[in-house]
Amino acid sequence: MQSPSQTTFSHLQAEVERHGARLVGVSKTKPVAQLQTLYDQGLRDFGENKAQEMVTKAQQLPADIRWHMIGHLQTNKVKYIAPFVHLIHSVDSLKLLREIDKQGRKYDRAIGCLLQIHIAEEDTKFGFSPDEAEALLLGGELASLHHVRLVGLMGMATFTKDTAQVRREFHGLRLLFDAFRSRFQSPPVQLTELSMGMSGDYPIALEVGSTLVRIGSLLFGERS
Ligand SMILES: *Cc1c(COP(=O)(O)O)cnc(C)c1O
Repeated sequence: MQSPSQTTFSHLQAEVERHGARLVGVSKTKPVAQLQTLYDQGLRDFGENKAQEMVTKAQQLPADIRWHMIGHLQTNKVKYIAPFVHLIHSVDSLKLLREIDKQGRKYDRAIGCLLQIHIAEEDTKFGFSPDEAEALLLGGELASLHHVRLVGLMGMATFTKDTAQVRREFHGLRLLFDAFRSRFQSPPVQLTELSMGMSGDYPIALEVGSTLVRIGSLLFGERS
């Protein structure tokens, strides 16, 4: 007998792979034993939203896990995850990007980053508007950040049952991604990743062209 989570994982993994995307298991607040169980089933990408929690878990789990930072990251926390983090999805300011570059230099690595873009109707605190992201990509400073690799965009759709709205928002991000990809392709910018889709809306995100879906509750159970 397979456990329910095993069935969910393998079905989800197959569905995500069929779309040419990658599954990031969002394990925030969940105990290490639960991450280990999914690791044993084959999951290698885990997402956390707090630097300290990521560090603590990384110390206790296998070294070949790819750790994804998906939550707002304060500049003074970058140093904790800089030695090992695989991808920071939630870059929301140039100031943060400068700090990631500084820490990447210290550890002699170029850290993968995504720009978080506002696409939802709600007034979210963090992230760039499309115009702000364009200004950042046009600005000359990026070229001097040798320890950052800007590899894509991340967005969260409005939390709503209105699937047409969710689709519209994801599609808008996809169009922005395509437009940026055709215009900006010199180091450190190399846009290949589009991080969108969570437990409630990932099927739409996959249809619209997501390359990274961030799934928490569906894999790990509801958070308390
Ligand atoms: C918590 C979280 C997720 C996962 O949410 P679920 O609805 O549990 O799948 C995805 N992305 C971000 C940025 C999150 O904070």
